[in-house]
Amino acid sequence: MPQTLRPLIAANWKMHGGLSWTSKPSDFEAIYPSSERRHLDVLICPPATLLASMNDGVFLGGQDCHAAVSGAHTGDVSAEMLKDAGATYVIVGHSERRAGGDTDEDVHAKAEAAKRAGLIPIICVGETESQRDAGQAEHVVSEQIKASVPDIANYVIAYEPVWAIGTGKTATPDDVDEMHNAIRAQVGPDVQLLYGGSVKPANAESLLALKNVNGALIGGAGLEMESLAAIARAA
Ligand code: PGA
Repeated sequence: MPQTLRPLIAANWKMHGGLSWTSKPSDFEAIYPSSERRHLDVLICPPATLLASMNDGVFLGGQDCHAAVSGAHTGDVSAEMLKDAGATYVIVGHSERRAGGDTDEDVHAKAEAAKRAGLIPIICVGETESQRDAGQAEHVVSEQIKASVPDIANYVIAYEPVWAIGTGKTATPDDVDEMHNAIRAQVGPDVQLLYGGSVKPANAESLLALKNVNGALIGGAGLEMESLAAIARAA
C-alpha cells in the first residue's frame, strides 16, 4: 500500500440499528483504542436517523444522498443534511441503490453533491455474477467509473462485486488484485480503493495485503465491533 494512502476501514450498517447502537463507537474504542490505530481511519455509516446521536471516536458517513440541497423530495436526505448531522463521508452508488434505480448519472450527481457539501463520496462500482461469467467484469467496472465519477479531487472508490455482497462469497485475492490494479491504472495513484463484499476477520488479511487495496467497505461484519476491530487490525 503506498505510504500516502491511509487505509480506510468502513462499516455500512445498511438498515440496521437503533438509538442503543449510538454507543458502538465507544465500544470500538475500548476494543481497539485510537492510540493504537493512528495509521488508519475507521468510518461507520449508520442509518441517517442515528448520525447526529452517534458518539465520537470514528468518522461518520451517510449511506446515500439526494443530489439537491433541499426541496420537495419526500423521504430523501441531502449531502448538506448529512454533513450537518456529523458526516465526513457518504456512500453513493451502492449496488443496493443501483438495483433500486440509481443510474451512473444519478451516482455522478450524488458524488458532486457530496463534494458541494464538503463530504468525501465513496463511489461504489461492481459487476454482477453473469457479467463476470461473461468475462466483462473489468469492462463493466471501467465504464461505471467513467460515468459515475465526476471531476473532483477527493473521492474514494469501493469495488464491490454484486455477487459477493451479503452472500458469504468473496472474490479471490487474485480476482481482487486484478480488478484493483485495473482501477488504479484508470484513476491514478491518489484515490483510495476499497474492496467490499463479504469481508470478515477470516479473509481481511489476505485482501488488505494486496497492493492496491487501501481498505474495506464492510456490511454484515461491521455490525459487531469485535469483528470490525479484527478487520481493522488486519489493515
Ligand atoms: P457485506 O456487504 O459485507 O455484508 O457483503 C458489503 C456492502 O454491501 O457494502
